[in-house]
Amino acid sequence: MSVDVIVIGGGFAGLTAANRCAEHGLKVVVLEAGNDRLYWCNSRISTGALHVAFRNPREPADGLFDAIMETTDGTARRDLARALTSRASATLDWMEAAGANFIEHPRRSTGVNMLAPLREMRAGLDWEQSGPNLFLQTLESSLVKRGGELRRGCRASAIERDDGRITGIIFDGPDGAETIAGRSVVIADGGFQASEELVGRHITPRAGDLQRRNAGTGCGDGLRMATEIGAAALGLETFYGHVLSRDALDNDKLWPYPQVDLICAQSLVVDRAGRRFADEGQGGIYVANAIARLDEPLSATAIFDAAVWHDALTTDNVPPNPSLPENGGTVIEAANLATLAQKAGIDPDGLAATVAGYNDFVQADGAAPIEPARNIGDYKAFPVTDAPFYAIPVCAGITVTSGGLAVNGRGEVVDTDDRPIAGLYAAGSAVGGIEGGPRAGYVGGLIKSFGIGLIAADSIAGTFGGPEYALD
Ligand SMILES: Cc1cc2nc3c(=O)[nH]c(=O)nc-3n(C[C@H](O)[C@H](O)[C@H](O)COP(=O)(O)OP(=O)(O)OC[C@H]3O[C@@H](n4cnc5c(N)ncnc54)[C@H](O)[C@@H]3O)c2cc1C
Repeated sequence: MSVDVIVIGGGFAGLTAANRCAEHGLKVVVLEAGNDRLYWCNSRISTGALHVAFRNPREPADGLFDAIMETTDGTARRDLARALTSRASATLDWMEAAGANFIEHPRRSTGVNMLAPLREMRAGLDWEQSGPNLFLQTLESSLVKRGGELRRGCRASAIERDDGRITGIIFDGPDGAETIAGRSVVIADGGFQASEELVGRHITPRAGDLQRRNAGTGCGDGLRMATEIGAAALGLETFYGHVLSRDALDNDKLWPYPQVDLICAQSLVVDRAGRRFADEGQGGIYVANAIARLDEPLSATAIFDAAVWHDALTTDNVPPNPSLPENGGTVIEAANLATLAQKAGIDPDGLAATVAGYNDFVQADGAAPIEPARNIGDYKAFPVTDAPFYAIPVCAGITVTSGGLAVNGRGEVVDTDDRPIAGLYAAGSAVGGIEGGPRAGYVGGLIKSFGIGLIAADSIAGTFGGPEYALD
């Protein structure tokens, strides 16, 4: 079998690229490893908040570009960030034309578009009736109507080349190993968060101590296949994720929600010695990365008081008070810090000293010394003074890896000299270099999928004589 374009992965990135290629009149096939009709992938179970670094994609492109550079501390590839943001509003237009419906987020109503209908936003995972699941099915139907094909149960394993040019993909299908011929390949396999080996190599040697907050399908096949033929990879050391109750490790009602992010950002997180180890004020994604890198990730504990616990009734998407204890998550309560430390398995002297220093810092509005440094600009930091005191044993929940293949502003995968590998493209979570940096900056898994999926498809169309895609 021979096609114009082979897409690896049937998530939003793959189905967007495939539909757009089919719109351009190209013959396209999507190889999807999953077998089920509603095969799991991160796209299907996602919450559906469409943003660019938490900004509305309809905002002016320059501001969105600046937001990406700010959140990644300047580490994002400028060409890709520019291409993504200059087309962000058009990406939403394409999605709406393709059948996506958006509503405003009920709690974060600052312009974050949510794929409708909204998931229930309760503890645990619900996805069946959600906008992302329905839209993924719509995209598959549209692809088929346009003459494209999605082949389930086909796991790509290697890129075939002849004289430096891509000629096809080898995959394991229902009948064993097969080859499909095609001169353009889009890698959209969703990242490497489900590979304990790769997470262990790039993110933390304690990969087994992270909680899976994902579909379990991103195994890094695309990263491996492409780097085997010379592709460069960027930013493999950070991930997008959240702080979860440690009980989520064996209680499915505690992931992907409720998150413990806001409680951490409003108070402090300590290790077994009672010491802080991260700037909690950077937010939950940053803290989840810091927890993952601890020698003992499963020692992290959030410490807070009655004021923060009361605040947690209303301030989050799925408020952990009361959903966390109601669903079996541990919340330790004590009348004083010494008893709290003893119940939580934390060194009491260490905790007392840390809380005293932290309270001095908060009460001095950040003017007192504190180590590690604490940002108080983004979240209100509460002192730990009002009994009862609380502790939540937490863990790092990994949703999706931030790094991946190096891709330029045309969606082309590049080699270690930044030269495009002819015929090879990537989109979605397979792409690195647009998120991450020292604070694990998050730009948005969905915009990476839809936005880069469209960019890659338009570039491919150009190579087949279609309209040239203009870089600005
Ligand atoms: C619980 C949860 C909530 C989220 N909420 C949001 C949100 O609100 N906003 C946001 O921006 N992002 C969110 N994300 C992240 C976002 O969903 C992902 O970043 C995005 O959907 C990734 O799309 P993708 O197409 O790159 O990968 P995926 O959707 O994971 O699809 C990749 C597909 O490739 C297939 N595959 C893998 N290897 C192979 C292979 N070798 N051969 C063939 N097929 C293969 C997999 O089976 C899978 O179907 C969330 C994620 C999760 C898990």
